[in-house]
Amino acid sequence: MLYDIDNENEEEPITEEMIIRTRVRKKAIICGVIILCCVIVMTISIIVSVKSKNKANADLANNNQTENQIIHEKKHMQIAKHDFEQIKTKFVPKANPNAQEQITNIYYSEEKIAYLTFDDGPSKNITPQILDILKQENVPATFFVLGSRVELYSDLLKREYDEGHYIANHGYSHKYSQIYESKDTVFEEYVKCENAIRNALNNQEYNSYLFRFPGGSSGGRYAGIKAEAKELLRNYGINYTNWNCLTGDAEGKTTPEALMGCLQETMQGDRKYYCVNA
Ligand SMILES: [Zn+2]
Repeated sequence: MLYDIDNENEEEPITEEMIIRTRVRKKAIICGVIILCCVIVMTISIIVSVKSKNKANADLANNNQTENQIIHEKKHMQIAKHDFEQIKTKFVPKANPNAQEQITNIYYSEEKIAYLTFDDGPSKNITPQILDILKQENVPATFFVLGSRVELYSDLLKREYDEGHYIANHGYSHKYSQIYESKDTVFEEYVKCENAIRNALNNQEYNSYLFRFPGGSSGGRYAGIKAEAKELLRNYGINYTNWNCLTGDAEGKTTPEALMGCLQETMQGDRKYYCVNA
């Protein structure tokens, strides 16, 4: 009996009101379809752009990593090719992807270990005395040298290296306004100092991969530049470290009592950079 019902509907008189209602309904449907299409297209383009952005970021990260790996591999290959005798007897630092994490963990280690570090040298009068004492006591240390001073006293830098100490980078000039002009000037300071070390050691393959920011790696007037520079250095596999214990010699303390007092004060806690009482 379906035919009957259909026929009945067909035969129903069409009023003007019905025509208007049908037109309005049609328009509403068309509008709805257009809006839906727009939403779908927008959603698709958002997904596509997010995906391509993620892909671009991943590609960039991969490229940086590959570039760094290639540079390091090339360096090692060159050492193996040209300075094979030297690599057997001399210490040449290698890039270590976990170095920054390991250095940072030093601060939170349960076991207290003293790592002796000396900044701002080499110094004509003081460095030979330090080296004599370290030799006598059979203690290794790390020298964070300044490129400008390495150029003056390359023989002392060579002695530090030959006696088994680690040579690390403290920039070239130690002039804050010059170093912290931008992240690129920080990097230039690193490169300039590294070149001075290479020339003094007569080893163009040397790369310390370790930088100590003059004045510390965070805070102060140049905090923003320092943060950007850390990121830039990291991209080149260069690590940084500060200090959490001081004798106060750079702040003018000279007597053994004052130096030891400052050391004991800053030994308390894991990050107390400056002594106030001693
Ligand atoms: Zn310094």
